[in-house]
Amino acid sequence: MDGSGVEDTAADNKRSSQAGAMSAQADVGTPKRTKDIISKYGFSFKKSLGQNFLIDQNILRKIVSAAELDESKGALEIGPGIGALTQQLAQAAGRVTAVEIDNRLIPILRDVLADAPNVHVEHGDVLKLDLEALIAEQFAGLSGVSVVANLPYYVTTPILMKLLEEKLPLQHIVVMIQKEVAERMAAKPGGKEYGSLSIAVQYYCVPELVCIVPHTVFIPQPNVDSAVIKLTVRDKPPVDVADEAHFFRTVQACFAQRRKTIANNLTAFVGKAHRESLGPLLVSCGIDPSRRGETLSLAEYALLSRALLDAGLPEA
Ligand code: SAM
Repeated sequence: MDGSGVEDTAADNKRSSQAGAMSAQADVGTPKRTKDIISKYGFSFKKSLGQNFLIDQNILRKIVSAAELDESKGALEIGPGIGALTQQLAQAAGRVTAVEIDNRLIPILRDVLADAPNVHVEHGDVLKLDLEALIAEQFAGLSGVSVVANLPYYVTTPILMKLLEEKLPLQHIVVMIQKEVAERMAAKPGGKEYGSLSIAVQYYCVPELVCIVPHTVFIPQPNVDSAVIKLTVRDKPPVDVADEAHFFRTVQACFAQRRKTIANNLTAFVGKAHRESLGPLLVSCGIDPSRRGETLSLAEYALLSRALLDAGLPEA
């Protein structure tokens, strides 16, 4: 795909299987099998790539079941590691494409997934790949595609924002992420978790926390607990926004300093010269200027952005 792609075709899989590969029957995501694979290949974890492999079949089943897959559906996995989740996805979906950045894992995946001809492994950085093209190429003819992944924590938000902002044709995004990030994504107005991430995610999706996951189900164990979150991608946003870029800039501006009122935060956004007009503008939207950004709903942000746009604010 990107020139660095390693095709892991069914033929490759067969060859590698015939070459005496480790049996692909046993579940990869168990403590013993994971340790065996790691020691067989002399694999060493790279903390910088967020490598924490899942070793709990129960959690793996929960992730796969939340994605509502069947033979007519495709699964795009980001960061397959040694294939614990990939193996389960291969059984649940019609086709699986797994994007892995670490080239040391490609031969391991080829070996471990030798008996799964419906899996394609793409070597690359998910943040740099043309995912629209990859989805079109890999999942043509299927009735829907979902992203299912145990995400590398160091890039969770950039990956999710890429999936959402590129408006990829996805049904669900079911991902294991840091618990605090999952809680922020699903947060409702009024709490300290609610912020620009909640609004961005809820603009594109309906979030649902699937389960909280203790750090003990990974090798190596991360320092924090995790959660599985299911994002059902909306056909269209729940609010009518005139200019998406302006809407998100308005949201960012209102959270610039969480302790400040929206009137104060917006003054920095529109410039001091327009300070006086902000009060009436907010009131015309039914928003008390002394409220804080964390209390405004998506609908109120949409109204506010539209009123600012109508007033030509901020000036270009
Ligand atoms: N799916 C496996 C599991 O559940 O056991 C591994 C999950 S591990 C948390 C994250 C994986 O993402 C690692 O295999 C890591 O090498 C890979 N990764 C990290 N950054 C990536 C990127 N930018 N693009 C693709 N894969 C990436």
